[in-house]
Amino acid sequence: MRIVEPKRTNSVSEQKQKPKSRFKRPVFILAVGVMMFVGFFLFLSNNSEAPISEDPTVASNQDENNSPTQATPGLQEFSGNEFRIFYDQLLQPNLDKVDTPPAITGNDIADTRIRQIAEARGYRLRSSPTSALPYVDGYLMQPSVSMSWRELKQESAQAGLSMSITSAYRSVEAQRQLFTSRLTALGVSYADIANGLADDEIDETLKTTAAPGYSKHHTGYTLDFVCAGYAFENFRNSPCFDWMSNDNYRVAKEHGFIPSYPPDADLQGPNPEAWEYVWVGTEVLYAE
Ligand SMILES: [Zn+2]
Repeated sequence: MRIVEPKRTNSVSEQKQKPKSRFKRPVFILAVGVMMFVGFFLFLSNNSEAPISEDPTVASNQDENNSPTQATPGLQEFSGNEFRIFYDQLLQPNLDKVDTPPAITGNDIADTRIRQIAEARGYRLRSSPTSALPYVDGYLMQPSVSMSWRELKQESAQAGLSMSITSAYRSVEAQRQLFTSRLTALGVSYADIANGLADDEIDETLKTTAAPGYSKHHTGYTLDFVCAGYAFENFRNSPCFDWMSNDNYRVAKEHGFIPSYPPDADLQGPNPEAWEYVWVGTEVLYAE
């Protein structure tokens, strides 16, 4: 302590005794001035950004929107209704868009009535393939679907399951025959339909069967699955359905498939169909 104290007093006294330069004071004042000037502008610019970057509401909203994709880059999750919207907004390759609905009964008034009821249920016109499709397992489907279907089938076998398909591409004409035979089986004539006397029967038929032009099977991207030991209408209760649909349809999505008519979507056309899946490819299903 004794050694330090004298040194301190020395240094202080030395400073005090030093003659101040004539130039140092103005330079010092100028430097302080410049610093205050710059500091003031930095203060202003920080303040102008503050309401955007520091608003807690905005910050928390951004976190909510970003955290799922940032934290777990992987398969996107969808509600039933989001599956419907996602598919309807998707533009798939190798398809010709259909703008003019095809004939159904041949009676224009009856056809208009059927289309109005179909569209009120949420049915939409679906596109048809631009080129010929290959047969896979006895069914026509888009080439991109066939690769995924083979992989899905192989993986289901490894999981101890036996899956097959019971429908893939269906032409507008095949759908027309299917729809009109089911509708007329309910005992209505085309005149009844045109006169508005068969709206209930039309709606009943549309619960299970699309009007021609409105089936997703027209695209060649849609498959109906069957699980061994279960009728295809009973796919919902099969172990194949559980395997594909667990964890927000994880296995289905890993192979590029999404449920075509999931249980909790509004206005999608038919009643929910657990057996029908649409291939969209994996690229669009993984979050960026
Ligand atoms: Zn189907």
